[in-house]
Amino acid sequence: MRIYADNAATTKMSKAAIEAMMPYITDIFGNPSSLYSEGQRAKEAIENARETVGRCIGASPKEIYFTSGGSEADNQALRSAVYEGKIKGKTKIITDTIEHHAVLHTLKKLEKEGFEVVYLPVGKNGIVNADDVINELDDKTCLVTVMYANNEIGTVQPIRKIGEACRRRNIVFHTDAVQAVGHIPVNVTADNVDMLSASAHKFHGPKGVGFLYVRKGVRLHNLIEGGAQERGKRAGTENVPGIVSAAAALEEAVSDIDKNTEKLTHLRDRLIKGLSEIPHSALNGDLKERLPSNVNFCFEGIEGESLLLLLDDKGISASSGSACTSGSLDPSHVLLAIGRPHDVAHGSLRLTLGENATEEEVDYIVSAVKEVVSYLRGFSPVWRDLCAGKSKFLL
Ligand SMILES: *Cc1c(COP(=O)(O)O)cnc(C)c1O
Repeated sequence: MRIYADNAATTKMSKAAIEAMMPYITDIFGNPSSLYSEGQRAKEAIENARETVGRCIGASPKEIYFTSGGSEADNQALRSAVYEGKIKGKTKIITDTIEHHAVLHTLKKLEKEGFEVVYLPVGKNGIVNADDVINELDDKTCLVTVMYANNEIGTVQPIRKIGEACRRRNIVFHTDAVQAVGHIPVNVTADNVDMLSASAHKFHGPKGVGFLYVRKGVRLHNLIEGGAQERGKRAGTENVPGIVSAAAALEEAVSDIDKNTEKLTHLRDRLIKGLSEIPHSALNGDLKERLPSNVNFCFEGIEGESLLLLLDDKGISASSGSACTSGSLDPSHVLLAIGRPHDVAHGSLRLTLGENATEEEVDYIVSAVKEVVSYLRGFSPVWRDLCAGKSKFLL
């Protein structure tokens, strides 16, 4: 038996997504820029997908630009907003310390190009204080970028309130909504968002396709120059099968949000309750303001990597930190940002449930984690010192 509990890293493609894609990898293979009927059928499929995607997030189809995924959408959004700002002499960017690396690494580059970036701290619960953002807004600010929901600890940010303040001051507000779209209700109009990034493989669509929402009137700069695809803003022959499939996946995910939220919230809380019984452990992120699928814990005295390998042996796929940082020795920047000390941050476990998860699976995960944590602590020198009183328990 395998239990896939790493849905924040990627998801399995849905049946609807696979079926929607099939005709476009077989018969309808034309280039959407071609004028004959094979091309025009492909073109039509893209425009239908654009309409579906727009409808799913409360946007007009003209405001949707397909990209190669969430990272590209983040890169293009950030650079567009700040290059536009610079023209008007605005060079200040406001963000927070728990963004995805697609945002953080782009901002590091922009700092080298002369932009000033303010990294606001988050609370111990992993939530950005909207008033902190509002207090930083000034006439020099060209961009605020705050993620909708965090990919590691699942915390949902006060997007609506931040968006409202930015809108009032006419400052571009971008949100990396890769973990939110298709999982919790997202509406760009109600949320006062100017730019929003999403990625299909996080909502049961294919990898290598995503989209950027850009509100009408907000200028977009190109990352990729070439043909006139995506209304001249993103060159390159479109990923037709991927785009069509992404739209089908999103439509299904959005229509199932209420049903899935109820089910997942119940399973998530059961998992949290079970893992909380492990001594010297702590939940990372807010108990309530978090994605319905996300559970993230720290266990004192163990290494996250060993935990993952032993869980894998027991048939459980999980993660420690984000998929992008595992393999590196640095502990997660998100866990450090919520105040976990280095040693504790190393012993973290992220479990992100899929919509098909069951109570039996959750109970199996709890018993497997309990067993593996106590096994690893059995020969951990760090744990021995803690128990002997030579060092202090932090959790
Ligand atoms: C996965 C993820 C990304 C990157 O998306 P890709 O489509 O894999 O490039 C960006 N931001 C967040 C929050 C993510 O979870």
